[in-house]
Amino acid sequence: MLTDDLDCFDMVICGNEISCKWDNDEKELTRRALREMQQKRLMNLPTIKKMKKQCQIAQNNYLCPICKTKNNDILQASHIGQPIIKKINNIVDRYIDTLDFYELYKKVIEEEDNSLITVACRKCNKDLEDK
Ligand SMILES: [Zn+2]
Repeated sequence: MLTDDLDCFDMVICGNEISCKWDNDEKELTRRALREMQQKRLMNLPTIKKMKKQCQIAQNNYLCPICKTKNNDILQASHIGQPIIKKINNIVDRYIDTLDFYELYKKVIEEEDNSLITVACRKCNKDLEDK
C-alpha cells in the first residue's frame, strides 16, 4: 500500500543488487534468449493474433477451438508434438560450442518451420505435447 511517507527514493534499487542464474552461465543464457526470441516471433505474428481474435468472445474470455470451453482468459500458441523448448534444448546441447547465437537461432527457426502450431487453452496446450 502506497503511503504518504514513502518517496521515490524508497522505491529504488541499484542494478548491482540484481542477480540471475544465467548471469554466469552462458548455456542457460543462450537457452533462455533463444526461447524468448522464438516466443516473440510467434507473439508478433499477425496470423496467430488473428486466430486468437477469431476465438475471442469478450475481453479475457476466449473459446478454446479444441476443447470448446469458454471463459479462458488467454489462448496460447501451441506446438503440436514435441514442445519447442525441448528442440531448443537439444540445439543448445549439441551446437553451443560450434555455432554462434545467430546460427543457433537459425536452427531454432528450422525446427519451427517443421512444426504445426495452433492456438489452445492452457490445458489443451499441455495435452498437445508428446508425452
Ligand atoms: Zn482447450
